[in-house]
Amino acid sequence: MHEISIAGAIIDAVLEAAKKNNARKVNEVLIEIGELTALNPDQLSFIFKTITAGTVAEGAIYDIRLVRPVISCRVCSYSGPIEFFEKLHFILPVIKCPECGGSEVDIVAGRECCVKRIKIS
Ligand SMILES: [Zn+2]
Repeated sequence: MHEISIAGAIIDAVLEAAKKNNARKVNEVLIEIGELTALNPDQLSFIFKTITAGTVAEGAIYDIRLVRPVISCRVCSYSGPIEFFEKLHFILPVIKCPECGGSEVDIVAGRECCVKRIKIS
């Protein structure tokens, strides 16, 4: 489960920010996760709750938002969302241009995993 190491890195960042701002408590954390990271928000949320026990971030609300992938095509200059297909009950993203079918695309969004906002008191 690669969620554990990612969750650890996110909480490290949250605790560091809380410390810098002399927070007594972290109330809310807004996190954005790209769908291409294949991270599971429910698992992340569970891990956050477990590893923050006894820290200033214990009991915080984790608002995890999924970011839809966006690509831009180098061939036809299409820019927008990609298509998903379902295979063996998994929804898989198709990293190719839906307009011209080309695979020379740049991923503009969908791979992020970052803390957007922290509310402290
Ligand atoms: Zn294209």
